[in-house]
Amino acid sequence: MGSVPLPTNEQARLQLLHQLDILDTEADPIFDRITALVKEVLGADAALITLVDEERQWFKAKVGFDEPETPREVSFCTHVVAAGETVIVENAIDDERFSENPYVTAEGGVRSYAGAPITLYNDYHLGSLCVISQTPYKFPPSKIRYLEVLAEWVSETITARYELENYHAEQQVLAHGPVCAVVWRVEPDVHLSYVAENAERVLGYGNDYLLREDVNYESIVHPDEREELLSRMHAVLDGDEDILEMDYRVVGEQDDSTTIRWIHHYARVDKDTEGNVLRVRGYLLDDSKGKELELALLEANQNFELALAAGEFFNWSWTIPTDKLTLSHSWWALAGYTAEQERQLDWRTLVHPDDIEKMQEQMSAHAKGVTHRFDARFRVRHRAGHYLWLHSVGKIIARDAQGRPLKMMGIHHDITQLIASEKVLEQQAEVLELVSHVQNEFMLAKNFSEVCDFALPKLMTMTDSKVGFIGELPAHSQQRNLVLAHGLRLGSIEHKSESMQQLIQQSLEVEVGGDVLRSVLVRGEPEFYHEPLSEQDLTLKPLVLPDLNNALVMPLYFKRDVVGLMVLANTDGHYRQEYLGLLRPMLDTLGTLMHMRRMDEERRQAVEELRKLATTDELTGVANRRVFWEAMSKRFDEFKRYQVPMTVAVIDLDHFKSVNDNYGHAAGDQVLREFCHRAEKQLRDMDLFGRLGGEEFAILFTHTEVDAATTALERIRKAIAEKSFKVEGEEISVTISAGIAEVRKDDEKLDHWMARADEALYKAKAKGRNQCVTVTKD
Ligand code: GH3
Ligand code: MG
Ligand code: MG
Repeated sequence: MGSVPLPTNEQARLQLLHQLDILDTEADPIFDRITALVKEVLGADAALITLVDEERQWFKAKVGFDEPETPREVSFCTHVVAAGETVIVENAIDDERFSENPYVTAEGGVRSYAGAPITLYNDYHLGSLCVISQTPYKFPPSKIRYLEVLAEWVSETITARYELENYHAEQQVLAHGPVCAVVWRVEPDVHLSYVAENAERVLGYGNDYLLREDVNYESIVHPDEREELLSRMHAVLDGDEDILEMDYRVVGEQDDSTTIRWIHHYARVDKDTEGNVLRVRGYLLDDSKGKELELALLEANQNFELALAAGEFFNWSWTIPTDKLTLSHSWWALAGYTAEQERQLDWRTLVHPDDIEKMQEQMSAHAKGVTHRFDARFRVRHRAGHYLWLHSVGKIIARDAQGRPLKMMGIHHDITQLIASEKVLEQQAEVLELVSHVQNEFMLAKNFSEVCDFALPKLMTMTDSKVGFIGELPAHSQQRNLVLAHGLRLGSIEHKSESMQQLIQQSLEVEVGGDVLRSVLVRGEPEFYHEPLSEQDLTLKPLVLPDLNNALVMPLYFKRDVVGLMVLANTDGHYRQEYLGLLRPMLDTLGTLMHMRRMDEERRQAVEELRKLATTDELTGVANRRVFWEAMSKRFDEFKRYQVPMTVAVIDLDHFKSVNDNYGHAAGDQVLREFCHRAEKQLRDMDLFGRLGGEEFAILFTHTEVDAATTALERIRKAIAEKSFKVEGEEISVTISAGIAEVRKDDEKLDHWMARADEALYKAKAKGRNQCVTVTKD
């Protein structure tokens, strides 16, 4: 039976096969129908769709055959996979590959077989569509054509499903985001040509509806803002503006105000090289929450006016010539003082030092008649030590003959609560604005580190933090002790962070030390640290952190998985529980974007890896046969047009069979690698070195005449022969022979040129090996 033949790209082939997630899956009607059709058309006993993995062939579909799978080494189809082309066996008894196969030697065993490859992306032969029969059979070519066409159909179905699945995975992520992407075409008229699937969630209108030819986008916009949107859209289309950013309301389908949403609309144009507008891309964010907050703020201010009117205030009067200030008793009680104390205290000494100047400015502006009343907000120290916020409004009610103020009266209002809630509302609005900005930036530039670098300082200001860090948990960080740094601010040692920022741009991976961060990554719960942290608690090598007095560590999530974390540290007071609610939208957004970034990155890497595996030889890493021949034929065409000189050398290792026989196949492989290594050192970057197969290699020298190429080959020959190869403790002497030929004008085909190099190689062998033979130019 011999060993199983393997295709040259076996490793990449298996990788793709497993990625498809098709092995050991349920039967599928379409594949069952194809196999039934094949069996009928080719008049066979059985037909199968087989997929070949490391150890077995597994049947995705079968008719006339019972077993679900068979071992790979007895499978006929593994030969189709290795050859990448149709394999036909008319009588297995006469075929030495199969004559001893148990499926052949068994009672009523297989005699005839035909299998066409199932091939994805040109090079990946995953299995076959095949037929078997108990009787020998001479397949007519027309039937083989049927088989091959149906195999192509199977291949295409598998490819299309795989790509569709990838596409859906990506859409899935976008559909979870709060931003709906849309595209307006400009020809033949301006109309939406693409609307993301999350439109229903963001706008309240499904994408099918918005894409209808009889529906205009502006029809869903509130009449008050419709005109402005249209005119700004025109400005963008006319090229007067590149970007359109505005907030407007979208009216619900029932046209009642309860279903109004506020949309933050961000759009930009794509232009061709001549500056003509090709399309407008828009990103629509449901910003109702942000608007609600803005309106709540307005309402809070109005409430204040109402409170004043309702008399919830403390009055005061001030006689200026005697500087006597009288305050209502209830005010003193509010500030924590007794009647005894209030007689001795000048309340002005209680005003917060930061607020005194502003208060005095207000006072003199009113005294000079610049403002028609005194109006100030300032803090006053409570007897217990903390501060109360007061809003004070007053008016001069008497002046002397020269117009100098004599008496002023006014009211105080305690606005401590109001200030606190105003601040929270402002901050929430700020966070939402930041979220929308961060999303736009990411959609347009996809540079996550830049996005973090932008958001981090703002989040630090909001929380009064001096240190900030954003890190991503990479999929390979099983122990959760590695994170990819995306953003870093170090406060007191900012000068050091510049070089670190650069490292972060190059995706620096940092090692998490201590339990503080790890416990958040593992448990997925935020943690507050109100005490200083030591180096035992937290390190991020190789980053150098300043001393940390306190910290807030928050996990970043995508759905149910922790994908990263954000650290804020060194606030003046202490981290408050409310920060979590405040930062929540930002944390969710960063988690989602982190996940999208990772998906992008992984897809890019997978494609790159497949590309590399497909162009290089797995054993030696030099160009494979296909790439070498493609390059040769391209160069040959170039020569036909421009007559630039070029030379090819064919190299074969001498007596290589005896290396294998004496030291083993593994040592032989090692010799082939070392040979490539030594040879490449002698070559220029522009020379192409490839493996034609076995121990046969070739070098294509462009822009090079035969003499220069011969000199290079001599250098290689010496580099091999002069020093024995050390492999597994053995010293192995190796020599090579080479044939060298320059292309000629009368070479009609590439093969003619190559044949001269082969002939020269043959001569080198015949003359005793370890030498180069050159075919002279004419
Ligand atoms: P000659 O000097 O005439 O070229 O002698 P040779 O022994 O090199 O000739 P031949 O072409 O008959 O043998 C080539 C041998 O190379 C046979 C095969 O076992 C071995 N070989 C081919 N590919 C590989 C490989 O990838 N690894 C190893 N270890 N051996 C290989
Ligand atoms: Mg050889
Ligand atoms: Mg050989």
